[in-house]
Amino acid sequence: MPWVCPSTCSPIPGASVAPDPVASSRPAPLDVALKGLCPRCGARTLFAGMTKFADRCAACGLELTRFNVGDGPAAFLTLIVGGLLVGVAVTLQLTVEPPLWLLALILVPLAAVAVTGSLRVAKGALLAFEYRNSAHEGRIADE
Ligand SMILES: [Zn+2]
Repeated sequence: MPWVCPSTCSPIPGASVAPDPVASSRPAPLDVALKGLCPRCGARTLFAGMTKFADRCAACGLELTRFNVGDGPAAFLTLIVGGLLVGVAVTLQLTVEPPLWLLALILVPLAAVAVTGSLRVAKGALLAFEYRNSAHEGRIADE
């Protein structure tokens, strides 16, 4: 039977690592992303708008402005959703041959909803991972 490291083991012989009491109560990144939960306390306070983060968590006071998810999710999701919608448009055109105005009537709102909805989830997931991994911008140490 292989040896399994218990939760309190340490790579340093003789030292022990106490379990992080906060880590057990933190919501999973998927829950943060899908439900808009604060990554620290789990309150539903992450978003102030559809895709805009709140400045801080109203429940625990976590400063959410210090996290910077940037424009990466928007660009990445636009490419993914755009690619999928082009596939849908080509399939519709080759099978049903709808008029161009009908394609636009279907695809433009679908693109807006798909990008906005997935952007909220992607931004929430990125913020959750930033919080969990204590990620921040790199700094050059003063010499
Ligand atoms: Zn909170």
